[in-house]
Formats: sequence, structure tokens, C-alpha cells
Amino acid sequence: MLPYFSDQMGNAQSVHSFGQEARAALETARRQVAALIGAAAAEIVFVSGGTEADNFAIRGVCEALSDRTGHIITTRIEHPAVLATAEALEGQGYSVTYLPVSSSGVVEAAQVLQAIRPNTILVSVMQANNETGAIQPIQEIGRLLADAHMAGHERIYLHTDAVQSVGKVPVDVGSLGVDLLSISAHKIHGPKGIGALYIKKGVRVGKILFGGHHERDRRPGTENIPAVVGFGAACELARLNLSDRMKRIRDLRDYLDRKVGSCIEGVKTNGHPGLRVPNISNLSFQGVDGESLLIALDLKGIAVSTGSACSSGSLEPSHVLTAMGLSREEVRGSLRFSLSQYTTREEVDYAVSVLEEVVGRLREMAPDEEDMGTRRSSFSVPTPEAVPNVEG
Ligand code: PLP
Repeated sequence: MLPYFSDQMGNAQSVHSFGQEARAALETARRQVAALIGAAAAEIVFVSGGTEADNFAIRGVCEALSDRTGHIITTRIEHPAVLATAEALEGQGYSVTYLPVSSSGVVEAAQVLQAIRPNTILVSVMQANNETGAIQPIQEIGRLLADAHMAGHERIYLHTDAVQSVGKVPVDVGSLGVDLLSISAHKIHGPKGIGALYIKKGVRVGKILFGGHHERDRRPGTENIPAVVGFGAACELARLNLSDRMKRIRDLRDYLDRKVGSCIEGVKTNGHPGLRVPNISNLSFQGVDGESLLIALDLKGIAVSTGSACSSGSLEPSHVLTAMGLSREEVRGSLRFSLSQYTTREEVDYAVSVLEEVVGRLREMAPDEEDMGTRRSSFSVPTPEAVPNVEG
């Protein structure tokens, strides 16, 4: 990316040679992104990230069909980029079905079929969930939609948010049967603020931004060449030895699950044990507040996340775990661990030893359920300690 911040400053729209250099870099990156998902370069539109890709896919289809009486099918476990877009469209007259998921966080393809109405225009189901890693049956949904079309239904477009699956499992747009697919660079070690929407050739998608004629008149705005170049390089690297790298990460993630299970009592794995991307583990710690655990782990150099969104001082429980039917207590005690190809076994061992100590301490300090309001204030912050010097 570095030369494109300084020496090669051209605008890809400019006709002069500096511009043409930038254009060449843009098109190389487009081919790299396309190659990762089995698409043609012309089917890739660069956008500002996964959020914009989701908005663009859903609003774009609605815009193209320009019928506010249309019906959209999605699930209760989508990323807010999909859910909030669907809710906004509901406010404009569209109707939306939010499908439930099983206790392991997976939607049933047959339920998509049952939800189809004469005016259904779009199905948007994520390929892998960002909190549990659970992989959804996109291929099967694609097949059912194709059957519905054969049986006489107007074409129903299929969008998948593949932000958490691209680069983690093999993704091929052709075999998935999708019309639109969202990707974000920063989930595959690329830069933040850049992503892409795959739009299958022939699929009509309206614009959601208006301006110039960039990206084949689909998404206006001067292209962010350094970010695009970084995204392309990340895609190129993500293709290399994907199955070997992912096997290593899966083994390490399973090792983490086993080790936590053997060292700490009262732990539950959330999400489908087998049908998960290899890098995510979502665990509920009985009798522990996930946010307190997160803070305590952070002080020891371990970065994890909770599904809950801390907004305006109020904690909203994870909509994903809630949709899976977890109890309030299980949702409150949940944490997501994400591993990468750079995570080492020593780091996992360190994380588990810290977890064991911190979970034990928090459980000792835990007041009764009714007393939850005072728990946070009575939580004493542990002294930060040096993180062991482990490789990676
Ligand atoms: N979709 C999913 C499943 C995600 O996990 C994320 C980000 O975490 C997004 C969409 C949004 O992507 P971005 O951060 O690139 O806007």
C-alpha cells in the first residue's frame, strides 16, 4: 500500500499516466478480489466496507425493482448492517420476514421457502455469523430459490453477507448460487474502510450513492487506491494454502474449547460445534458477567468481545444469542474468542490460564442475581501484568 500514499498519487479517473498507473492498480486489485470468490473482475464493485456492501445489496435490489410493496426475507441473527437496513425499508413500505434460527444458531433453508410470498424480491442470509461463526445453508437456499423461479415465481435475488466467511472457508459464488455477496477487507488482514460487493452479471442493482460514474457507474466517489491495493493483496494472500491454514486455526480453536472445558467448570459452547468457521469460539461462563470478564482479560493483554452492544450506557444483550434461545444469564456470561493464523498455542495456553484465574475470582465476588446492579461497581480492577513474550 505504501507507494500509493506517496509516490503513486494518481487518481484512477485521470487520463494522464499517473492516473493510468492508479487505474492499473485498481484493476489488479479487482482481479485479486474476484479470484478469491470465483467471480469475474467486472462483477466486483469496491465500496467502503461490509456495512456499505450490505446496504448497497439490499437497498440496491429494492431500488432497481422500485416497488415499495416488495417483501424481503432475512434472519434474526444478521449483522446490524443488514437488520437496520431491513428495518429502515420496512419504514418505507417494504415488508420483511425475520426468520428464527435453531439453538445452534443455524437457519433452516426450508423455512426460507415457506416464507416466500408472491411479492418476495430478495433473500438476505449471512454465510457465517459474526458472533458464533455458525455457517448458514446458503447453497441450499440458492437451490430452493432457483426451484421457486423454475416453478414460476418472479426471480428472487439472493444476497449473502460473507464478511466472516471469505478467507476462512472456500467461497465460490457460482456454487453458492448467490446474486450478491458482501466482503470486508479488515476481516482478512486487509485495511479497514474498504470492501466489495459482488454483483452477479445481469443482476439489476440500483445506486444508493449519487455522483460521478466510478465503478462502472455503480458506486460514485474517487477510489481509495492504497486501501484497494491492500485489499487486493490481502485477498491474494488469503487464497494461499487456505485449507492448511484453516486446519491449523481450527485445531487451535478446538484446543482452546477443550482446554477451557477441562480447566473451568460451567462453560457452554454457543453455536453449531461442527458447522462453524474455524476461527471463532463463543463461550458462556456460568455466573460471570461477560463485560467484567472482557475488561479483566484486556488488562492482561487478551482481546475478546461480547455480543452485547454498549450504547448510551445501556447494555443490550446479544440479539444473536437471544435468537438462539439462550437464557439471559447465558447471554450475559458470553464471550467471543477470535483466532487468526498468527495466534500461537502459547497464547491460547496463556489466555486459558488467565481465564481460569479471572473466572474463579469473578465467581467468588458474584453477588446474587437480584444484586446484579451492584456487581459492576463492586468489581475491583486487577493490576495489569506484563503479557508473556510469545511469538506472533
Ligand atoms: N457483516 C458482518 C457479518 C460483520 O462481522 C461486519 C463487521 O464486523 C460487517 C458486516 C461490517 O463490516 P465493516 O466493518 O467492514 O463495515
